[in-house]
Amino acid sequence: MLESFATLAAHRGQAGLEAAVELLEETQRWPESELLQQQLLLAGRLIAHARKSVPWYRERLAHTASAPLTLDRFHELPILSRADLLDHRQELKSSETLPGHRTVREANSSGSTGRQVTVEIDSASAAVTRVIALRDHAWHGRELTCKAAGIRAIVSGASAPLGRHVPRWAPSPRSGPLALLDVHTPVRAQLEWIEREAPAYLATYASNAAALVEAGERHGVSLPSLRELGTFGEVLPDGLRDAAMRVWNVPVVDSYSCVELGYLALQCPKGTTYHVQSESVLLELLRDDATPCAPGEVGRVVVTALHAFVMPLIRYETGDYAMAGEPCRCGRRLPVIERILGRARNMMVLPSGDVLWPRYASNILGKLFPLRQFRLVQTSLRELVLEIVPARPLSVDEERGLKSLVVETLGHPFELELRTVDDIPRSPSGKFEDFVCRVPRTSLTARSG
Ligand SMILES: [Zn+2]
Repeated sequence: MLESFATLAAHRGQAGLEAAVELLEETQRWPESELLQQQLLLAGRLIAHARKSVPWYRERLAHTASAPLTLDRFHELPILSRADLLDHRQELKSSETLPGHRTVREANSSGSTGRQVTVEIDSASAAVTRVIALRDHAWHGRELTCKAAGIRAIVSGASAPLGRHVPRWAPSPRSGPLALLDVHTPVRAQLEWIEREAPAYLATYASNAAALVEAGERHGVSLPSLRELGTFGEVLPDGLRDAAMRVWNVPVVDSYSCVELGYLALQCPKGTTYHVQSESVLLELLRDDATPCAPGEVGRVVVTALHAFVMPLIRYETGDYAMAGEPCRCGRRLPVIERILGRARNMMVLPSGDVLWPRYASNILGKLFPLRQFRLVQTSLRELVLEIVPARPLSVDEERGLKSLVVETLGHPFELELRTVDDIPRSPSGKFEDFVCRVPRTSLTARSG
C-alpha cells in the first residue's frame, strides 16, 4: 500500500499526485499497528536491496535474516551516523538501478564541523516529498491560488531588492506564484521586500521569522495580506507564536524536515505538536540505551527513508533531539512529536557532565537591551561568551544587567564574558544558532556513536 503510494506519486503526473494525497487521507487514520506493518514491509525490501547492492551494507546487514522484518529485528540493525555518511558516501550508493528509482539531484546539508553531508535524492523520495507538501497545504487550509513568499538560503539570483520570482509555490497547476529572497539580506530590507510582494503565505527559517516579527513590531510594519507565517529548518524560538499573532495576527505553522530526508513531521492542524510522516519515513526517538522513548521523554532522532533506494539511509541518526508526544486528539494516528529540541551542538554541558537545552532569555534580550544580534557560546564547562552586536555602546549598568539576566535565566553559576563583535553571520546554509557549545563532549559522542 505504501509502495503503491510512492508509485502513484511518481508516475502518474498531477492526477497521480492528487490520488496519492487522497491515499494519505486514509493512511493517517490507520491503526498504528497497521501503519507499522506497512512500514516494516517497505523497510524489509529496502534492507534486502541494500544488502545486495550497497557496499556499506553488504557486511553490516549480512546477518540480517531474510525472513519478514519484525520491529525487534529492525531495532537490532546498526545505526548510521552522520560521520559514517560523511566518510563513506560512495559506499552508501547502490550499484543496482531499480525501476522507479533514479537520482534526481544531490542535496547538501552542513554539519557542525562545516563539512557537508551530501545525499543523492531518489526520484521516488522526491515524489513523496511533493505529496507531503500538498498534504501540509491541505492540513493547514492554504489556498493554492494565492501568492507565497520564501526567504531562505539561495545560491544565486534572489538578492535584494528584487529577489526572484517563479510561477508556482505548490506542486499543483492551480498554484499561485512564489517570490524568493536570499535569507542573507538584512532584516529591514527583507521586511520592505515582503511589504512590496504582499504574499498570503511567508515561509522562512524560524530564527529569521523571529527577527522579522521583532523588526515588524519595532518599525510598525503591518502585513495585511499575510495569512500564515511558515517556519522550517530550525528550532522554533520561544514566544514566536505569540509574537506573530500579536504583531501580524497570523499563526505560525512549523514543519520538521531535513535536507537529506525531506519532510520528517508536520505540525498538527489542531495544535502545536507534530505528526511524523510515517508514509515516507520510519522515525524513531531513542533513549541513550537505544530503546524507544515514551511520551514526554527526549531522545535522538533516528530515521529510515522508506522510499530511498538509490542511496539507502537505514536508521540514520540525524543529530537532532526531540520529545515524544502522547497520541493526538485530532483523529490522525500518525506518531506525535511534542517538541523538537535541536542538535547536540546546541546543548549546554554542565560541570557535572549533564547536558540540557539552555534557555537564556533569548526571546527578550533584544527588547531589554540595544542589541542587533547576539549568540551565546559555551567555551568550557564553566565559561560562556555572549557575543553581541550592539546598536550603540552599552553602559556599564546595561552590561552588568545583561550579564546577570543571562546567568540567572540559565540557572547555573557560569562565568560569562561579553564580547562585542561586528556581525554574527548566518551559516552558508542560512541557519542561525543562538546557542553553540564548543566543549568537546566525549560522553555524548560515545553514546550516540
Ligand atoms: Zn493531530
